[in-house]
Amino acid sequence: MKQETLCLHAGYEPKNGEPRVMPIVQSTTYCFDSTEHIAELFDMPTEFMYSRFANPTCDAVEKKIAALEGGAGAMLTSSGQAAALCTALNLCRAGDSFIAVSTIYGGTVNLFAVTLKKLGIECIWVSPDADDAALERAVKPNTKFVFGETLANPALRVLDIERFAAFAHRRGIPLVADNTFATPMLCRPIEWGADIVLHSTTKYMDGHAVQCGGVIVDGGTFDWAASDLFPEFTEPDESYHGVVYAKEFGAQAFIIKARMQLMRDFGCYPSAHSAFLLNLGLETLAVRMERYCANALCAAQFLETSDKIEYVTYPGLAGSRDSALVQKYLPRGCSGVISFSVKGGRAAAVRFMDSLTLASNVVHVADIRTCVLHPASSTHRQLTDEQLAAAGIDAGMIRLSVGLEHIDDIIADLTQALAHV
Ligand SMILES: *Cc1c(COP(=O)(O)O)cnc(C)c1O
Repeated sequence: MKQETLCLHAGYEPKNGEPRVMPIVQSTTYCFDSTEHIAELFDMPTEFMYSRFANPTCDAVEKKIAALEGGAGAMLTSSGQAAALCTALNLCRAGDSFIAVSTIYGGTVNLFAVTLKKLGIECIWVSPDADDAALERAVKPNTKFVFGETLANPALRVLDIERFAAFAHRRGIPLVADNTFATPMLCRPIEWGADIVLHSTTKYMDGHAVQCGGVIVDGGTFDWAASDLFPEFTEPDESYHGVVYAKEFGAQAFIIKARMQLMRDFGCYPSAHSAFLLNLGLETLAVRMERYCANALCAAQFLETSDKIEYVTYPGLAGSRDSALVQKYLPRGCSGVISFSVKGGRAAAVRFMDSLTLASNVVHVADIRTCVLHPASSTHRQLTDEQLAAAGIDAGMIRLSVGLEHIDDIIADLTQALAHV
């Protein structure tokens, strides 16, 4: 089935007399007829047992997202940050390192550079333009994965997925792609060689700004046994009755290990109600993404014509820095997010933002309603000047998330706010 159809039908197929709409299974607990049955589940969790790590409503949404990404399995998390944390900890332990592209989301920079460091895991930063030689210089014997964002938030650089994947695979390690901004409607990183895909579902997937969430998708492509770097996948797990994930679970080894070890221990799992709301967003994702892309291209072209604008970054603009990568990876569009700078730096940016009437000033992005944010004073506030520069951010930069209002109204709002600058 095509993506549009999967958005509506994947993950939940009601049988005779069952509800047409995926039900909210608001239960922490599941019944069994014998103690022995439960004992078997503790050896091999083939049924639902406890909602700290699995639930039927969440399961249906996990199957839908896995289908949309073309993956072997998926696990929802309570936020995008939780998805990144669980992914890193599923691959690394104290003493390990990993490589990340520097132009990624500020919250992820913080998680990688500060919090994981406290746990003894080192993040080695590389530029999005790093060539193979630069990547070779960065990698160490203890490096366990490579991480980048398909379409970076808010730098909007496009990851050369195929090249980064080829490098990672030469070193026997997986490529992890954060596909939050592109969504599987615009790009399916697994098809280009990524092994694990994650999302902040808080953004386009939910789309309505009603709940935080995340998801990890296992591409099922990485051969854990062929690499000698992942004993946790190829040797018995003492905390789970000696199970050997790569042997027992094949293409789903990564995601089942993440659930059995990390979700079991951390419990950063969404509620059934949250998964239900996420599913409503997913049902319209295909049509929404088309409109976000069309509206954002118009808005970016409009901003480009203003003499009050220093620069506009939208990868879909003709002649953009990453246009060759856009043609390859994002031929259907570049999402609804635009970064730009008003002449006059931080003060002009603040004046412009405070003059907007339709677009709201919020700590959010990828919503159905047009919104703006000033990264240097909010999402990226914790970053040093060097980190800001590496993330592709300056003090005057505004992140505009174009929504689904009529484009004429969006441009009218931008026009009147520019008149105030
Ligand atoms: C927002 C965001 C995150 C973090 O997600 P939360 O749901 O806010 O925890 C991670 N990556 C990207 C690209 C994001 O935009």
